[in-house]
Amino acid sequence: MFEPMIDADTRPYWDGVARGELLLQHCLSCTRAIFYPRAVCPLCFSTELEWRPASGTGTVYSYTVLRRAFGRFATNPPTVVALVDLDEGVRMMTHLVEVDPADVRIGSRVKVTVKTVEDGLSLPCFTPIPQD
Ligand SMILES: [Zn+2]
Repeated sequence: MFEPMIDADTRPYWDGVARGELLLQHCLSCTRAIFYPRAVCPLCFSTELEWRPASGTGTVYSYTVLRRAFGRFATNPPTVVALVDLDEGVRMMTHLVEVDPADVRIGSRVKVTVKTVEDGLSLPCFTPIPQD
């Protein structure tokens, strides 16, 4: 299961998460946002990348509900694992938290909330944005 591999390319991302902040790389050549963190833009192969704070908001692209504990951080089922399209145009796999799994919908608007899962390790999770 998921185990963050922290190296020179990913350290700014994980340092940001540890501060409660979601950072994304942006390519200075083609201007696109990039996720997951890496050394080279996957679109134009530029190495001129810059870290910027993400908006922290996105839309649920898809999700599944795990009803049995599975993996290191899913110790309290049910767990909602989702693909979230960030407003910057990148997709990330994450957990939806503070939500009844029956209330999750594809297309729901969500915002990031950083959760400490164990000593020294936090993960960016998402929670629904209340609709008016
Ligand atoms: Zn690029």
